[in-house]
Amino acid sequence: MALFAGGCVRDELLGRTPDDYDVVTTATPEAISELFRGRTSHVGAHFGVVIVRERGVMVEVATFRTDGSYTDRRRPDAVVFSTPEQDARRRDFTVNALFLDPLGTPNLPRAMGEVIDHVGGIEDLRARVIRAVGDPHARLAEDHLRALRAARLAAKLSFTVEPTTAAAIRQHASELSGVSRERIGEEIRMMLSHPSRAMAAELMRDLALEGPALRLAPPPRGGFALLKGLAPGASLLAALPAYAIDLGVEPTAAGAEQVAAAWRGALCLSNEEQAAIRHAMSALELLEGGFLTLGVARQKRAAQKWMFQEALALACMRDTTRGERLRARLRELEDHAGGIHAPPLIDGDELIRMGLKPGPAFKKLLDALYDAQLEGRISTLDQARAMANAMHPA
Ligand code: ATP
Ligand code: MG
Repeated sequence: MALFAGGCVRDELLGRTPDDYDVVTTATPEAISELFRGRTSHVGAHFGVVIVRERGVMVEVATFRTDGSYTDRRRPDAVVFSTPEQDARRRDFTVNALFLDPLGTPNLPRAMGEVIDHVGGIEDLRARVIRAVGDPHARLAEDHLRALRAARLAAKLSFTVEPTTAAAIRQHASELSGVSRERIGEEIRMMLSHPSRAMAAELMRDLALEGPALRLAPPPRGGFALLKGLAPGASLLAALPAYAIDLGVEPTAAGAEQVAAAWRGALCLSNEEQAAIRHAMSALELLEGGFLTLGVARQKRAAQKWMFQEALALACMRDTTRGERLRARLRELEDHAGGIHAPPLIDGDELIRMGLKPGPAFKKLLDALYDAQLEGRISTLDQARAMANAMHPA
């Protein structure tokens, strides 16, 4: 017997396209490998999971199992092969514990087969609620990451968290500290990468998970206006600074350092993610500070920087009047002398061909030449050469 399981059944029944397909079967990992010889990998074989590659699709195939105890609160210590019902009962939420037998007779509209429900998942799917399978306190005690998963899935599916499950999550919220920071970081990344990010943030606050998950000092305030205002497809890197500011962090160099340090620990933020926060916040500080009083070259150089567009979007959300002025100025810069991203007319190699000696003055000269170009004082290679010669005779 082989059944579809978990998120893909839930998504198919909701008419959504699943991100991936999981299969559970009575076959042992050895039998699965034998059946799909040469097309399997065994990353999770000791947890009873085999990855099967079939016509370009990767499917996780697991043997029906029940999880043993969770001493590290992360992975079960032992896996015992079991029945479909026991396998459903080890899953986190009822709507995630449905099976679909593709060879069975359809018993529900939309399902291409028979839906097997041991835990009341169909009813909860209809009621659009996230409910723990079994006793929510016990299930959270096994793996407290489920608290964050509840918030993420409720947001992603536009469901609510069933009151008893929600109460248990609130009551045990501080126990999130027992979960590895890598896993917490991954959940937060998934929340922020999805168009439902503002709802996920609201649910985290409502479920008292914000403090334990994010470990940020400023008292929470506001209503996630920036997360709400982001484009649905906004990147994680754009969402991170937006979220930090919504949480009450000041968009300054000091604020950026505070978040980067806190989230490096709390969410295992990568160097790139930390840098994105720093860049976005310092660009935002400039946009809300002296940007409009800068000279043309400095404005264009600022606008060339990584995360500038993301910072501009945030500036426009925070103050629409200023946003209009900023956008108008950027349109002017775009139309002025080769635009904002004009490729330099002249480079170091050309200066060397002209007989100039590379040295400390070189970079200054190139900067001055590029400033002149951005300001429209020179616009051809000949003019750049003439200016170089005048400033720095060979
Ligand atoms: P998504 O669509 O966001 O991937 P999903 O439900 O498919 O959601 P996965 O993390 O891919 O979530 O997990 C697949 C299935 O494994 C879940 O549907 C659930 O049945 C089970 N599962 C995953 N994580 C846990 C957990 N921490 N505790 C219990 N069961 C879990
Ligand atoms: Mg999944």
